[in-house]
Amino acid sequence: MASYDVIIIGSGPGGYVCAIRCAQLGLKTACVEGRETLGGTCLNIGCIPSKALLHATEMLHETEENFGKMGIKVLRPDVDWPRMLEYKNETIEANTKGIEFLFKKNKIDWLKGWGSIPEAGKVQVGDEVHDAKNIVIATGSEASSLPGVDVDEKVVVTSTGALELGKIPKSMVVIGAGVIGLELGSVYGRLGTDVTVIEFLDVVTPGMDAEVQKTFQRILKRQGLKFVMGAAVQKVSATKTKAKVTYKLKKNDKEETVEAETVLVATGRKPFTDGLGLDAIGVAMSDRGQIITDAHWKTNLDGVFAIGDAIDGPMLAHKAEDEGMAVAETIAGQAGHVNYGVIPGVIYTHPEVATVGKTEEQLKEEGRAYKAGKFSFMGNGRAKANFAADGFVKILADKESDRILGAHIIGPMAGDLIHEICVAMEFGAAAEDLARTCHAHPTYSEAVREAALACGDGPIHS
Ligand SMILES: Cc1cc2nc3c(=O)[nH]c(=O)nc-3n(C[C@H](O)[C@H](O)[C@H](O)COP(=O)(O)OP(=O)(O)OC[C@H]3O[C@@H](n4cnc5c(N)ncnc54)[C@H](O)[C@@H]3O)c2cc1C
Repeated sequence: MASYDVIIIGSGPGGYVCAIRCAQLGLKTACVEGRETLGGTCLNIGCIPSKALLHATEMLHETEENFGKMGIKVLRPDVDWPRMLEYKNETIEANTKGIEFLFKKNKIDWLKGWGSIPEAGKVQVGDEVHDAKNIVIATGSEASSLPGVDVDEKVVVTSTGALELGKIPKSMVVIGAGVIGLELGSVYGRLGTDVTVIEFLDVVTPGMDAEVQKTFQRILKRQGLKFVMGAAVQKVSATKTKAKVTYKLKKNDKEETVEAETVLVATGRKPFTDGLGLDAIGVAMSDRGQIITDAHWKTNLDGVFAIGDAIDGPMLAHKAEDEGMAVAETIAGQAGHVNYGVIPGVIYTHPEVATVGKTEEQLKEEGRAYKAGKFSFMGNGRAKANFAADGFVKILADKESDRILGAHIIGPMAGDLIHEICVAMEFGAAAEDLARTCHAHPTYSEAVREAALACGDGPIHS
């Protein structure tokens, strides 16, 4: 039994970043983790393994599609699926071990096991009860399913099972055209699986800029993904080797079915707070199962905070990280802050999709006068050379002040390009500030400058 300034429960990107920041600020810190390895959903079964498989299959696609065009002759590549999974696992291990190293370096105690909070100021792990002046709940989320759908993680899988299938399926139904469904659908599509995406709404990636949604779906269709839109899944019946998905089309109430070797249920995630004992100590929860916090991540109990996927807001690793840092600073008596208006969202497909701030639809709804500057990657020399000219950059700026309100990119390296716009937004920059900044040639980021120019007198290269 020991006594700490802060005990964090959960070592995902929210929890481990919080622990490191607490230690940096001189607080005696421990982090409880029940999983065998540190890093949470993100490092073990989320961001990192999915990006490893996206990278490997994008290389495959590049070899098959573009090598010949550049005069590189290779034999048709052959996929060694067990080795690809090993590469993914090695990537996970390198990352989770990295967090272990950082914990040791920062003198953070890893309390191994599942934690609970018997009362404010105390954290129980196994038989041991530790004192904590402050407790941060960072227990993350778990995949949610649909009524009538039983997940066995073999034939009917969540993202967790989809990251370690025993073989590459010949066919896959993805339920849900959100980020996780489309990323993993892309992985298997590139591996030769016949992928059908079933989505309840009429658009992919709900909440994103409508022009991006349309372009994105068109590109994915061209890559071979099939879409059934406006369809409500009724049930999934599975045998040991395949499953049948029954869905009802909203337009005519007709029931249809589709069979596949694998069904990926990608209908979202829900906060995970099981076993913490929050009911017993009276921590307030929303009806969506999220822990309710104030603007400083405090729950209704003194000395108990919560961050990341377990609370309200976008379920993103970097949102959790930012909250982890900010809550550590708040506990240390500093002014921790997260700017929720400038949290980028990225989809790591090919091409990538990245977005920050307001969409055109939101601005219209708010009745805000805005201008949109758009530039196609067709006018970007580097993108043309690299067979990556699909997509565009769109910057939305206030009509009067020119202040940047949002940006939406579909195209090469969109997930990296978005950050210069994030920095500009943090500084309250105008589109003209970006437009007047010299951008190296030839880079994809010239397209960002051109979109900023398009908010003024017009781009040069279109
Ligand atoms: C397939 C997939 C791909 C994703 N890709 C991306 C991406 O590219 N970019 C992105 O930003 N986000 C991505 N996400 C989302 C991202 O993983 C989450 O937003 C992020 O991990 C949330 O961090 P967190 O710290 O709140 O919780 P988590 O990462 O979920 O970590 C919580 C940890 O707490 C532990 N825990 C829970 N309860 C207890 C307890 N009682 N005692 C001890 N330990 C406990 C859990 O074992 C877990 O390790 C992806 C998610 C998935 C599933």
